[in-house]
Order: sequence, then structure tokens, then C-alpha cells
Amino acid sequence: MTSPIAADAFVSELADLFTQLGGLRYGEDVSQLEHALQTAHHAKADDAPLALVAAALLHDVGHMMQKAGEDAADRGVDTRHEHISAGYLARAFGPEVTEPIRLHVAAKRYRVAVDPAYHERLSTASLQSLALQGGPMSEGELEAFLADPAAQTALRLRGYDEAGKAPEAEVAGFETYHDLLRDLIERANKVG
Ligand code: FE
Repeated sequence: MTSPIAADAFVSELADLFTQLGGLRYGEDVSQLEHALQTAHHAKADDAPLALVAAALLHDVGHMMQKAGEDAADRGVDTRHEHISAGYLARAFGPEVTEPIRLHVAAKRYRVAVDPAYHERLSTASLQSLALQGGPMSEGELEAFLADPAAQTALRLRGYDEAGKAPEAEVAGFETYHDLLRDLIERANKVG
């Protein structure tokens, strides 16, 4: 990160993004807002570190920023939303938030390669995008993934991600995460 960012302003920007575009679905049974809140809920329930709770909440913001539309995968387009999410969030958050996000698609490709039964846990949309994202990892890719210091947190995030697609689950709202997000941004500002 190059310069400090106003934490309040960035949290408002994120809240606005979910207010304006959080109803989009991208082929899932839940909206982006529901998916974000459920994924964060599972991270919290698992006592994940605060940075990983924030990563869970924000991992898919790149979907709402890409211009290819809700049906991109139907048209055979991989929007590389994990890189859009991580790149955008790096303006405000440190690598403890952005790195598991950047690797959350790689984590899916890892899991399906090492555990074929994992296929069954993926939603239809996630299976469809898997093919576009490169399918199960090759041996070499598996090794490179595991060597990444964020691999294990990305795998945890992936578990919360898969769990966060239940239609009509009752979970806490976005505003309950404002303080946590603000604290993490201020922490990243100090590290600079
Ligand atoms: Fe995603």
C-alpha cells in the first residue's frame, strides 16, 4: 500500500457497493450480499482470525466490479474476480486480508485435485466456473500452491465460501462488520 486511506470512507464505499450491487447472483442460489454475510458468519463461528473474517466477507467483491455481467460464466468468460477483489482491497487492507482472497479460486482447484469427493460440495455455478478457471490443479500447480504462505488460510476461506450459499440463512448484517473493517484498515495504515 502506498498511502494511508481513510478507514471510514473505505468502509462506506464497501457498504455502498453491497447496497447497490449486492443483489446480483452470478448463478448462485444466494445474492452477493447473502453470500458475503454467510461466508463471514462461518469464519466467525470457526473462530477465524479477524483478518480472515474480513476476507470471508469481502472475497467476492470483484464479482460486483467486473463488467462481464452476471452470466459471464455462461458465456465462457473467467472474469478472474479473485484478482479484482484482491487488487481493489489492497488499497486499504494488508496481505492477511487480500492474500487468502487472491488464492480462493486456486484453493478450489487444489481441493478438487486432492479430494475428488469435494466436487459434490461445489455449487453448480462453482463447478461451471471451475472448468473456466483451469479445472483441478496439476502436480506442479499443487506444489506451487502449497508453497504459498497464504495457502492454508485460503483453504479455510474456501470452506467458509462453500458453506455460505444456503438460501435464506439468518445471519448478522453488513453493519456488524464496520468496526472490524475499520480496525483492519487502520492497522494496515500503520504498517504502511
Ligand atoms: Fe469467489
